[in-house]
Amino acid sequence: MKRAKVFAWAVVLAAAAAFGWVAGLIVLAVAIPKAIAYLLRLRRALAPTTTCPRGHVVEQYGTFRCACGRVSDSWIWRCPSPCRRVSGYVRCPTCGIAVDNPMLVR
Ligand SMILES: [Zn+2]
Ligand SMILES: [Zn+2]
Repeated sequence: MKRAKVFAWAVVLAAAAAFGWVAGLIVLAVAIPKAIAYLLRLRRALAPTTTCPRGHVVEQYGTFRCACGRVSDSWIWRCPSPCRRVSGYVRCPTCGIAVDNPMLVR
């Protein structure tokens, strides 16, 4: 009886040792592309400029007016305190078309 129990545990441990990496591989296969996509979006959001859908250059740092009315020298996508609002989009200064916040685009 006791020997059978030890054998059962040995089978469970052997299965975990043999196939445990499969679960880890599945987690990594999901997590790594998501992390890369996040870092690429972050890179675009933190760059000095971005482009509107028509290709005009849009500054991402400078003097901007937030929806709360505050005018500040800052990053285009976030109002400094007190409101700390995140902009979903800004208008292209050349053509007026919306430029989406890279961090919010999926
Ligand atoms: Zn604001
Ligand atoms: Zn434009």
